[in-house]
Amino acid sequence: MTTEPDTSTACGWDQATYRCGRCGAAYTLTEEAYLKAVGVHGDAHAVWDRLNPTERDGFASILRVILASAGLGAEFLVIADRMTHIESGSTS
Ligand SMILES: [Zn+2]
Repeated sequence: MTTEPDTSTACGWDQATYRCGRCGAAYTLTEEAYLKAVGVHGDAHAVWDRLNPTERDGFASILRVILASAGLGAEFLVIADRMTHIESGSTS
């Protein structure tokens, strides 16, 4: 006698594909991840819309550097605060 888990009572869907009508990006996601991804993707388009082409290039290259290393962005801000403090001549 087998005791396989009964999955027939599950409802809804396990995964769905989100495809953006503006840029064509597609993600296959669970329901929770889907809802989150749709919101984040829309926010990213909002940022894109606010930038001119030069700003987009600069912002993208900065993000490629930051996202290549976990913690790099936070560490850079620590250094920025310390160096600004030092270079401003403060002795405290
Ligand atoms: Zn898109």
